[in-house]
Amino acid sequence: MATQAGKFQCASCGAGMEWDPAAARLVCPACKSGLEVHPLGSLDEIPFAEFAGQQRRLSETALEVRCGGCGAVTQFEPGQVAGKCPFCAAAIVMQPKAADPLIAPHGVLPFAVTSDRAAGAVKAWLGGLWFAPNDLKAVAQQEGLQGVYIPYWTYDAETYSEYSGRRGKWFVDQRGQRQLAWTECSGSVVCAFDDVLAPASKAVQPARLDALEPWRLDAVKPYEAAYLAGFKAQRYQVELKDGFSHAASKMRVAIEGMAVRDIGGDQQQVTGVRTRYAGLTFKHVLLPVWIGAYRYRGQVFQVVANAQSGTVSGERPVSAAKVALAVLLALILLCAWLYLRD
Ligand SMILES: [Zn+2]
Ligand SMILES: [Zn+2]
Repeated sequence: MATQAGKFQCASCGAGMEWDPAAARLVCPACKSGLEVHPLGSLDEIPFAEFAGQQRRLSETALEVRCGGCGAVTQFEPGQVAGKCPFCAAAIVMQPKAADPLIAPHGVLPFAVTSDRAAGAVKAWLGGLWFAPNDLKAVAQQEGLQGVYIPYWTYDAETYSEYSGRRGKWFVDQRGQRQLAWTECSGSVVCAFDDVLAPASKAVQPARLDALEPWRLDAVKPYEAAYLAGFKAQRYQVELKDGFSHAASKMRVAIEGMAVRDIGGDQQQVTGVRTRYAGLTFKHVLLPVWIGAYRYRGQVFQVVANAQSGTVSGERPVSAAKVALAVLLALILLCAWLYLRD
């Protein structure tokens, strides 16, 4: 398979072939001929310092268009139309232009969930919405799902952290009362991180994307434009350095967990952590999602589905009456709990 993108013409009938998530290969929509994709490149980690010099086009033919509604830049191959913005459902009226050079992805996780399966998962998710106003389901079904590759950074690093903290131990005093004695402590922990993900999209909230995890990143393939045939891809909106801040905050959670285990005792407090990073490398990868955006009472709501696992995460309109009821119920439970505890 040549990396020359855009025209994945069917050898039998000349129609444009598209990636088929169920068959895991290119399939001709006209005559159903199939074609395996064999990536040429390899999926190497890139040292942080070699960030410059990575500017390449997604493909020689890729077009891109900016949504006037939400500002997201979507890329696609000729033959597809920009149509509706996958992120905010606004109609795209701007003229597409040739994609500007950018860091072309190193890896891509091909779609594995078909649009039908994703629609079923989203329908089940909407059906389970406890807070949703009753008329939401009808509204939500009016918009279809679009398959989009979302840009991510992944980071590898070895960390060396020095922490300070306190160790708590229970003891029984002279009056027979259980007491917690704290002693100051410090130490160091070493961690190795592999493929810590940071979304490089601002068109979908980070929390919503985090809710799509876990991804099985061992299935990521070296980038090949053929995987994008029939789908859109979003240009990254978060710079490599800013993505690292997100990844570093995830690493910090793991490092503090290690420090807590290192402290030992009955209870632990971590008061400070200083971390040095070694062997910091990154990859730019595209991960597949199905996105539905719908309008409800003038507001836009998103539902996204992980197109590898089928996991759904979405935004829900909230009915004021149902929220009031839920808050009341929570208060009753809290009071009951406080009452039983005494
Ligand atoms: Zn064909
Ligand atoms: Zn938009």
